[in-house]
Amino acid sequence: MNHWSRRREETIDREERKKERAQREDAAGKLARRVPALATLSIAIHETRPDGVVSDTHYTRRVVLEHAPALFEVPCSYPGCTDGGYEVTREILDGLDTRRREFRGEQRCRGRCGDIDCTRVLRFVCTATYHEGVGAIPRAPEAAARSRLIG
Ligand SMILES: [Zn+2]
Repeated sequence: MNHWSRRREETIDREERKKERAQREDAAGKLARRVPALATLSIAIHETRPDGVVSDTHYTRRVVLEHAPALFEVPCSYPGCTDGGYEVTREILDGLDTRRREFRGEQRCRGRCGDIDCTRVLRFVCTATYHEGVGAIPRAPEAAARSRLIG
Protein backbone atom coordinates (compact mmCIF):
# COMPACT_ATOMS: atom_id res chain seq x y z
CA MET A 1 0.00 0.00 0.00
CA ASN A 2 3.00 2.26 0.37
CA HIS A 3 3.99 1.47 -3.14
CA TRP A 4 3.44 4.95 -4.53
CA SER A 5 5.12 6.86 -1.78
CA ARG A 6 8.10 4.54 -2.12
CA ARG A 7 8.21 5.32 -5.82
CA ARG A 8 8.34 9.01 -5.01
CA GLU A 9 11.18 8.51 -2.55
CA GLU A 10 13.13 6.75 -5.25
CA THR A 11 13.17 9.92 -7.27
CA ILE A 12 15.02 11.95 -4.64
CA ASP A 13 17.94 12.97 -6.73
CA ARG A 14 21.62 12.53 -6.07
CA GLU A 15 22.20 16.17 -5.21
CA GLU A 16 19.72 15.94 -2.39
CA ARG A 17 21.41 12.82 -1.05
CA LYS A 18 24.80 14.48 -1.25
CA LYS A 19 23.52 17.46 0.69
CA GLU A 20 22.01 15.22 3.35
CA ARG A 21 25.23 13.33 3.64
CA ALA A 22 27.25 16.51 4.04
CA GLN A 23 24.90 17.58 6.81
CA ARG A 24 25.31 14.26 8.59
CA GLU A 25 29.09 14.56 8.28
CA ASP A 26 29.02 18.03 9.75
CA ALA A 27 26.88 16.84 12.63
CA ALA A 28 29.20 13.90 13.28
CA GLY A 29 32.30 16.09 13.56
CA LYS A 30 35.82 15.07 12.72
CA LEU A 31 37.11 11.62 13.51
CA ALA A 32 40.45 12.99 14.73
CA ARG A 33 38.62 15.02 17.34
CA ARG A 34 36.26 12.24 18.28
CA VAL A 35 39.09 9.70 18.78
CA PRO A 36 42.24 11.79 19.45
CA ALA A 37 44.42 8.76 20.15
CA LEU A 38 43.83 7.30 16.71
CA ALA A 39 46.97 7.34 14.56
CA THR A 40 45.98 5.32 11.50
CA LEU A 41 42.90 3.51 10.35
CA SER A 42 42.21 1.36 7.36
CA ILE A 43 39.03 -0.48 6.62
CA ALA A 44 38.87 -3.55 4.44
CA ILE A 45 35.44 -3.80 2.87
CA HIS A 46 34.00 -6.99 1.50
CA GLU A 47 30.52 -6.97 0.09
CA THR A 48 28.75 -10.13 -0.98
CA ARG A 49 25.48 -11.11 -2.49
CA PRO A 50 23.29 -13.25 -0.27
CA ASP A 51 23.55 -16.22 -2.65
CA GLY A 52 27.31 -15.93 -2.59
CA VAL A 53 27.75 -16.03 -6.35
CA VAL A 54 29.47 -13.43 -8.53
CA SER A 55 30.10 -9.73 -8.05
CA ASP A 56 31.91 -9.81 -4.75
CA THR A 57 33.36 -6.41 -4.06
CA HIS A 58 36.54 -6.14 -2.09
CA TYR A 59 38.59 -3.05 -1.39
CA THR A 60 40.51 -1.35 1.36
CA ARG A 61 39.98 2.21 2.37
CA ARG A 62 42.69 4.10 4.16
CA VAL A 63 41.05 6.77 6.23
CA VAL A 64 42.64 10.21 6.00
CA LEU A 65 42.34 11.33 9.58
CA GLU A 66 42.77 15.06 8.97
CA HIS A 67 39.65 15.13 6.83
CA ALA A 68 37.55 12.15 7.81
CA PRO A 69 34.26 12.77 9.57
CA ALA A 70 33.32 10.51 12.48
CA LEU A 71 30.79 8.91 10.19
CA PHE A 72 31.12 5.63 8.36
CA GLU A 73 28.65 5.10 5.62
CA VAL A 74 29.31 2.75 2.74
CA PRO A 75 27.12 2.87 -0.34
CA CYS A 76 25.68 -0.35 -1.70
CA SER A 77 27.59 -1.31 -4.84
CA TYR A 78 24.58 -2.68 -6.66
CA PRO A 79 23.32 -0.13 -9.20
CA GLY A 80 19.74 -1.38 -9.00
CA CYS A 81 19.56 -0.92 -5.24
CA THR A 82 17.42 1.92 -3.95
CA ASP A 83 18.05 3.64 -0.62
CA GLY A 84 20.73 1.08 0.04
CA GLY A 85 23.96 1.30 1.93
CA TYR A 86 25.51 0.47 5.23
CA GLU A 87 25.90 2.59 8.32
CA VAL A 88 28.63 1.18 10.51
CA THR A 89 29.58 4.32 12.45
CA ARG A 90 28.59 2.93 15.81
CA GLU A 91 30.45 -0.36 15.43
CA ILE A 92 33.61 1.37 14.28
CA LEU A 93 33.58 4.11 16.91
CA ASP A 94 33.01 1.49 19.61
CA GLY A 95 36.06 -0.42 18.40
CA LEU A 96 38.20 2.71 18.27
CA ASP A 97 37.03 3.90 21.68
CA THR A 98 38.18 0.65 23.21
CA ARG A 99 41.46 0.88 21.27
CA ARG A 100 41.16 -2.35 19.42
CA ARG A 101 43.84 -2.87 16.79
CA GLU A 102 41.74 -5.12 14.67
CA PHE A 103 38.02 -5.66 14.74
CA ARG A 104 35.33 -6.65 12.35
CA GLY A 105 31.64 -6.49 11.81
CA GLU A 106 28.97 -7.03 9.24
CA GLN A 107 25.73 -5.49 8.15
CA ARG A 108 22.99 -6.24 5.69
CA CYS A 109 22.03 -3.66 3.08
CA ARG A 110 18.90 -1.79 4.06
CA GLY A 111 17.96 -0.99 0.45
CA ARG A 112 15.57 -2.55 -1.98
CA CYS A 113 15.96 -3.88 -5.49
CA GLY A 114 12.60 -3.40 -7.10
CA ASP A 115 10.09 -5.16 -4.87
CA ILE A 116 12.50 -7.28 -2.89
CA ASP A 117 15.03 -6.46 -0.20
CA CYS A 118 18.58 -6.05 -1.41
CA THR A 119 20.13 -8.17 1.38
CA ARG A 120 23.70 -7.74 0.19
CA VAL A 121 26.03 -8.14 3.11
CA LEU A 122 28.92 -5.87 3.95
CA ARG A 123 31.76 -7.23 6.03
CA PHE A 124 34.45 -4.92 7.27
CA VAL A 125 37.75 -5.37 9.03
CA CYS A 126 39.25 -2.32 10.71
CA THR A 127 42.95 -2.11 11.39
CA ALA A 128 43.91 0.76 13.65
CA THR A 129 46.96 2.12 15.41
CA TYR A 130 46.98 4.61 18.23
CA HIS A 131 49.24 7.33 19.51
CA GLU A 132 51.07 6.43 22.69
CA GLY A 133 50.16 8.44 25.72
CA VAL A 134 47.00 10.11 24.44
CA GLY A 135 44.42 9.09 26.97
CA ALA A 136 46.21 5.78 27.31
CA ILE A 137 46.50 3.63 30.35
CA PRO A 138 49.79 4.75 31.99
CA ARG A 139 52.60 2.31 31.69
CA ALA A 140 54.08 0.69 34.76
CA PRO A 141 56.71 3.05 36.27
CA GLU A 142 59.61 0.64 35.81
CA ALA A 143 58.76 0.14 32.12
CA ALA A 144 58.66 3.89 31.60
CA ALA A 145 62.01 4.28 33.37
CA ARG A 146 63.56 1.56 31.23
CA SER A 147 62.36 3.09 27.99
CA ARG A 148 63.80 6.44 29.09
CA LEU A 149 67.18 4.79 29.68
CA ILE A 150 67.12 3.10 26.30
CA GLY A 151 65.80 6.15 24.47
ZN1 LIG B 1 21.81 -2.74 -1.60
